[in-house]
Amino acid sequence: MTNIVVLIKQVPDTYSERKLSDGDFTLDREAADAVLDEINEKAVEQALQIKEAGEGEVTVLCAGPDRATEAIRKALSMGADKAVHLNDESLHGSDLVQTSWALANVLNGMGDIDLIICGNEATDGRMGAVPALLAEYLGKPQLTHMRTLEVADGVARGERETDEGVFEVEAALPAIISVGEKINEPRFPSFKGIMAAKKKPVEVLTLADTAVEEGQVGKDNAASAVTSSTPKPPRTAGEKVADEGEGGNDIANYLVAQKLI
Ligand SMILES: Cc1cc2nc3c(=O)[nH]c(=O)nc-3n(C[C@H](O)[C@H](O)[C@H](O)COP(=O)(O)OP(=O)(O)OC[C@H]3O[C@@H](n4cnc5c(N)ncnc54)[C@H](O)[C@@H]3O)c2cc1C
Repeated sequence: MTNIVVLIKQVPDTYSERKLSDGDFTLDREAADAVLDEINEKAVEQALQIKEAGEGEVTVLCAGPDRATEAIRKALSMGADKAVHLNDESLHGSDLVQTSWALANVLNGMGDIDLIICGNEATDGRMGAVPALLAEYLGKPQLTHMRTLEVADGVARGERETDEGVFEVEAALPAIISVGEKINEPRFPSFKGIMAAKKKPVEVLTLADTAVEEGQVGKDNAASAVTSSTPKPPRTAGEKVADEGEGGNDIANYLVAQKLI
């Protein structure tokens, strides 16, 4: 049986306003609608496909506040079997290294795991390094930026896509995988799936249930911090060039004025 854990994160919806809290520059989670990160829907989908191709169990793991329960339910309604929710106020403001340390400790307590599937980059933090840090902390191989993935005979293999090209890669299980945008189109939860999700087990842990020690997580213990933040200015309307015979020249003059040509 393939025991798969999918790491999922609840993030502010890209369609609602994202902002940082005044003062400490942590994410203002109340300011935006929260959703299961789309890349994590794809990670769940991939785990379900691997499970459906053979035998397996899919557990989702999420570190997040109370409202992350909604993201967990979404993953369960897609078809994941159970969930672990690390929910501890002391995690607030943790940086990448601390978050990964906490996740690695939870994973260590989850028994034998064959495959850990992550998104390659969360759409809020955008550190893109949790999978690599987990590989380091857990001492397991990692395959990153995967656009295809299959598991057979104790080996995970598939295509890794980067700006440089496409590479065939493989790693012996247990391994950590991060998936990219092209991996699949995630399924929509069915009505039956939504109803079934309500009864699926969700184990809620605090840091006291892990080997994480006091002082290893949280904003005050973080090794890095955001010290200022300047939102991008909103997009302004473009310039319209009416073509009255000189349209080409007008566009060229505009581009020259902008120092683009
Ligand atoms: C406003 C803001 C400020 C931040 N400031 C800092 C800072 O100053 N220094 C710093 O180091 N970090 C900072 N972070 C990063 C923050 O700590 C990260 O959310 C966290 O460290 C994980 O990094 P990431 O989400 O960018 O992960 P990525 O590496 O981009 O995520 C990849 C994958 O890892 C998994 N994953 C990530 N987070 C979780 C989770 N919570 N639960 C389960 N799976 C998860 C998911 O599968 C995800 O798709 C900031 C984030 C935000 C939103």
